[in-house]
Amino acid sequence: MDARLEAIRDTVLARNPGEAEFHQAVVEVFESLGPVHDRHPELLEAAILERLCEPERQIIFRVPWTDDQGRVQINRGFRVEFNSALGPYKGGLRFHPSVYLGIVKFLGFEQIFKNALTGMPIGGGKGGSDFDPRGRSDGEVMRFCQSFMTELYRHIGEYTDVPAGDIGVGGREIGYLFGQYKRITNRYESGVLTGKGISWGGSLVRPEATGFGTVIFTQEMLKTRGTSFDGQRVVVSGSGNVAINAIANAQALGATVVACSDSSGYVVDEAGIDVALLREVKEVQRGRLKDYAERRGGVSYVDGGSVWEVDATVALPCATQNELDGGAAARLVRNGLLAVGEGANMPSTRDAAAVFQQAGVLFGPGKAANAGGVATSALEMQQNASRDSWSFEHTEERLTDIMVGIHDRCASTADEYGDPGNYVLGANIGGFVKVADAMLAQGLI
Ligand code: NDP
Repeated sequence: MDARLEAIRDTVLARNPGEAEFHQAVVEVFESLGPVHDRHPELLEAAILERLCEPERQIIFRVPWTDDQGRVQINRGFRVEFNSALGPYKGGLRFHPSVYLGIVKFLGFEQIFKNALTGMPIGGGKGGSDFDPRGRSDGEVMRFCQSFMTELYRHIGEYTDVPAGDIGVGGREIGYLFGQYKRITNRYESGVLTGKGISWGGSLVRPEATGFGTVIFTQEMLKTRGTSFDGQRVVVSGSGNVAINAIANAQALGATVVACSDSSGYVVDEAGIDVALLREVKEVQRGRLKDYAERRGGVSYVDGGSVWEVDATVALPCATQNELDGGAAARLVRNGLLAVGEGANMPSTRDAAAVFQQAGVLFGPGKAANAGGVATSALEMQQNASRDSWSFEHTEERLTDIMVGIHDRCASTADEYGDPGNYVLGANIGGFVKVADAMLAQGLI
């Protein structure tokens, strides 16, 4: 790493102790930015990096609620409003027991660059709670969401901060959150949250957008090697929103998705995952992958283990951070891996990313490859602002254009900085330059 940036990095890490995921995200970005600072020394003088690593605002709050037995439960809520140089803070809410400030900050930091890459006017933010929705009744989830919003409402707004979903937060949770926001404020402010239901201000394609977009980005990478998804053997991790829609789109393009996972195990389905059945089990019945395996029949379900033990020519990690390590990456490479498109945020460890890049595997980092979700959220905001709703075809076309644009911007930035095919470099520099320019123009704030 560039020595000037090393000193800034050390200060950032020391100021944010114990936040391993945030450190990882910062270091990965810093490793790309030396050449930009050679060309633009004024960025150092204006302390752009130091400012970029310090969130504009961090909110931590108590979330009290009662479970079905009438017992009082206490969770912790977070909203990190990281950077508003390009627009209102925008980024999802994650409900998962692993959530703490370091995870919210890593996600918020990544979101700044991702949102810049989309070309839409949105800043970066992220939030969530250590609440675990798994095994909770609808009533419990609703009471939790209402309590969470009873604090969050005072910090968000169409022109301020616009949350959406992430792990553990889907259409049901957004509905409860929106209802409580509306009740407290007495305003039908559609643009305050995205991922809403279609009949009350949501956008068609938003539920599919992250997974669809990851596949579009990966398809563009494959094209640079004269190939496509057609005939590829694909492994996807996760079986949530991003994973299911990545599976659907990869198969629509002619691939066979032979395996997917949840946090309990993975299923190997050599004939190709049955997406309709998977949707029914996961989205309607809120079941587990094991239930899919039982209902599908003739497939193998592996309790525990890692889905990355299954060979693939294309890997789409769509579960969570640091789920794919160096050992798994090396095994995949040995067995003929061609491309990785990250549907999740930072799913590859630093070791794994290095293995992929050294082996010449096409490697699309999450901040570029999974930007289709937030981009379509910005399209939802556009529709809300104009009180309009677009057709599926029109919205999908916009998503496709945006994803192809992000791919091309990453590729041309990597070319410009002398490292063709390095999508990590392209995404980091491409996103950074846009935000840094806006921060310079807006003065020392
Ligand atoms: P969901 O909650 O819908 O699904 C998450 C999936 O990942 C589930 O199958 C879950 O399994 C699995 N998973 C979660 N945590 C772990 C873990 N610690 N170990 C193993 N498996 C795990 O979330 P999404 O699909 O929305 O999000 C998946 C990823 O995509 C996240 O990294 C998120 O940040 C990223 N992302 C999401 C966007 C969106 O629009 N939703 C936008 C951009 C990125 P189980 O059910 O067993 O917990």
